Amino acid sequence: MRTALLPNGALVHASEYDPTLHGYEIYCLDKSCRAPLIFVPKGDTASSHFKTTGKSEDSKHSATCGFYQPLDIVDSIEKVAEYQKDILQAHSIKKTVISLNMRRLDPEYEPKKTDREQQQQEEADPDKVKTKEKNENPNSISSLKSVVQLMVQYEPDLLSTIYFNIGGGRKLPLSNIVLSQERAHQLLWEDQSMRDVGYFVYGRIAEVMRREKVMYIKLERVNDVPFTIVIFEKYFKYFKLSEAELKGKDVLIYGVLRKNDYQDRKTTEIVIKSDKYIEFLKRKRSN
Ligand SMILES: [Zn+2]
Repeated sequence: MRTALLPNGALVHASEYDPTLHGYEIYCLDKSCRAPLIFVPKGDTASSHFKTTGKSEDSKHSATCGFYQPLDIVDSIEKVAEYQKDILQAHSIKKTVISLNMRRLDPEYEPKKTDREQQQQEEADPDKVKTKEKNENPNSISSLKSVVQLMVQYEPDLLSTIYFNIGGGRKLPLSNIVLSQERAHQLLWEDQSMRDVGYFVYGRIAEVMRREKVMYIKLERVNDVPFTIVIFEKYFKYFKLSEAELKGKDVLIYGVLRKNDYQDRKTTEIVIKSDKYIEFLKRKRSN
């Protein structure tokens, strides 16, 4: 981990940490943990960082801490939602901007002539998540797979420094774009979500219903939030996944959020155009 909590409640980044200035009392930033940490200066292979000594019961991360073990994507999303506000508010911690460009998922997307060269370049040089050294972020993301990789390869304090550049000069914290169903539902029904912005939401598929004009893929309810993936008839031809392939699976979905107040059920819908808007996930736990 590269961020630690000081006794005065401020956060310090390992690259800025100076014991004569900040003191030796440093703690894990996770509210459920607060284990005492030590500082490890930059070495030949690793950046400066903080760690627990593990030598006493005291200096170990608690089992619920975001640094206890590598996180799967769902736990990672939850921890980033928990840490991000504090980390973004800490002026001394450097922020990271990653361009988010998901337009190539769109089966109707036709690159403009001026974009074509850029696109060819992007295709020759796909997301750089894999090739980059550890602790270094990708510059841009253009697939669901890359979002999953990002969320599971990097520690939650680093993820919490990320803003996504969604185009048009707009930059949003990662935790405002990659969401739990509950959070997406809350943003939508409190009119705080944006209509023209795609969101990433995870869930487990409960039921697939094909109607003549529309297909509904219901997610298992989390805290009683009704959540459904919607595909309109026009896009059926781009959706090849069968019910057997979908049912019971954990997925990350990318799409635009939409209210459905039919029979006052307040269902949150996420509208997609092809099966490329769904990425299957491997979860560590089954709950
Ligand atoms: Zn901890």
